[in-house]
Amino acid sequence: MAERLIENKPIPVTEPSFPPLEEYMEYLKEIWESKQLTNNGSMVQKLEAELRKYLGVKHCYYVTNGTLALQLSIKALNLTGEIITTPFSFVATTSAIIWEQCTPVFVDIDPKTLNINPDLIEEMITEKTEAILVTHVFGNPCDVDRIEEIANRYKLKVIYDGAHAFGVEYKGQSLLSFGDISTVSFHATKLFGTVEGGAVITNNDEIAHKIEYLRNFGMSNGEIWGLGINAKNSELHAAFGLCMLPKVNEFISNRKIVSQTYDKLFLIRNIGITKPSLVMNARYNYAYYPIVLSNEKMLSKVMNDLQTKSIFPKRYFYPSLNTLSYVTYRSKAISEEISKKILCLPLYNNLTIENAEGIVNNIIESI
Ligand SMILES: *Cc1c(COP(=O)(O)O)cnc(C)c1O
Repeated sequence: MAERLIENKPIPVTEPSFPPLEEYMEYLKEIWESKQLTNNGSMVQKLEAELRKYLGVKHCYYVTNGTLALQLSIKALNLTGEIITTPFSFVATTSAIIWEQCTPVFVDIDPKTLNINPDLIEEMITEKTEAILVTHVFGNPCDVDRIEEIANRYKLKVIYDGAHAFGVEYKGQSLLSFGDISTVSFHATKLFGTVEGGAVITNNDEIAHKIEYLRNFGMSNGEIWGLGINAKNSELHAAFGLCMLPKVNEFISNRKIVSQTYDKLFLIRNIGITKPSLVMNARYNYAYYPIVLSNEKMLSKVMNDLQTKSIFPKRYFYPSLNTLSYVTYRSKAISEEISKKILCLPLYNNLTIENAEGIVNNIIESI
């Protein structure tokens, strides 16, 4: 769609992918015939089976969204105290902790990977610390070995917010297979979307049983096992996911081509833009294309100049979560600094190389 730039059609930061309508219609026919719209029907069960296979994990529960996936995980692990977390993430990572009546304890990030800096975790652990809940930022793997080692030493649980990590492999396995629990979001803006949706992933049978009843009013197999909520997802959403899942690897290759185009064009010009460094031993999913500018003033200028060309990058993540009005502020200098000058460039399945070239040219002109 090179004509987007020529005709000045807006280029958003992301655009949801749709399955071919006929494919979705086939699934809808099945749903209409089955007369089952929700309550763990055959589409949800099929999607969960396909996800377990794709991810190579023992348990995967499809839920309403990635935020509830985090909240169910906190509940399933009976957390009530302090949770070590990252200030550089989407607001849901922190809000889920607070909504579940726990206290977020922020640890600053590594300026290169933008993930939590494992060297700074231990000094923030107190006798109230119960868990580490951190994000694989932009799909870049956290230092899972160091985090596991610290968690084992202090007997802490580990939850990974893997909202960006679908399709990422680390050391030959899905990044979503690490920790006591990993969560993922299938929101329309994510690499693999089911309109709204998310999942809780674990290899632990006991945790799995809890997630199963927590998401269904506390009920499983006709029995009430404890307190629960309604976090189930519907047959229509699951069917959308079943159409999209076989296309994920193709989405990743398309995004890789555009990302590499951005890389190549920025590298040649050498204009003082930096990028987070990708961790070794990973198959990346190219879900985002973040650039770090020299300061916030430059970021505002680039954003304004691009907007006049109908190109809409996004400040992401912004603001740093330790500055939220409902948390106790403690300075996290690197996260605050990076969040002021990071911009995610447009990246989605139908974005063309020509679009990417136009965007880079506009940025270079602006700087
Ligand atoms: C999108 C996102 C979430 C929330 O997922 P929803 O499905 O939108 O509720 C949580 N954490 C991160 C890092 C995200 O990007």
